[in-house]
Amino acid sequence: MIARGIEKIIEFLFPPACPVCGAPVSLHGELCADCFGCFEWIDSPKCSRCGYPMVFAPNGAAVCPACARDEFGLEWLRSACRYDEMSRSVMLSFKHGGRIKYARFMARAMIWALRDVPADCDIVMPVPLARPRLIHRTYNQATLLARPIAHAMNVPLDVDSVRRRHRPDMGHMTPRQRKENIRGVFTVARPDRVRGRKILLVDDVYTSGATLSELRRVLLRAGAKSVCGVTFCRVVRTV
Ligand SMILES: [Zn+2]
Ligand SMILES: [Zn+2]
Repeated sequence: MIARGIEKIIEFLFPPACPVCGAPVSLHGELCADCFGCFEWIDSPKCSRCGYPMVFAPNGAAVCPACARDEFGLEWLRSACRYDEMSRSVMLSFKHGGRIKYARFMARAMIWALRDVPADCDIVMPVPLARPRLIHRTYNQATLLARPIAHAMNVPLDVDSVRRRHRPDMGHMTPRQRKENIRGVFTVARPDRVRGRKILLVDDVYTSGATLSELRRVLLRAGAKSVCGVTFCRVVRTV
């Protein structure tokens, strides 16, 4: 109640401005038209499973070559936009530069990206950060995105059923190295909370899929019913 009141006062003192460039906008957390136009939003047609953008998808049910080969590691995935210069710079300042005010428009874009998948998840779960990293960064960027998504879907946010051990950064690794490096880092601390549940994982970026696939593996082993995902942006490579 108090928080809501304070939010209202702040909104009154600071009129709505584009979080990226500061231009006036009509709603708080909204992008201005120019900034909006700088992102490559992923619209239809796309792969019905992994959300990969496609040139042609008859009747909306087509799958991309990777999904046809059954190489995709989740039930389904949706991403709001492509990973490019614009989304990369926004994400880096969101993740490492403390620009948490970006969370609002990023989460809103992710909710938009979920418009064509079944809204039947039981839990929204941000990809956990290892403790040393969380202490250093002070916040988990995935949790900031997951909270408004859980709120919009009216399901609980789960931030502590899974723990993550610290491993060195995966920045300059090949997909195979990433897969090996991530193996075994997640532990389900509360299997009772995930058993029989449909879980939606939330992360800022989908790169090789190694993190989300590994998380899905441990969740399914702990009894989860299904595991799908949503990210703000994704790397789009030829598949
Ligand atoms: Zn702008
Ligand atoms: Zn696909």
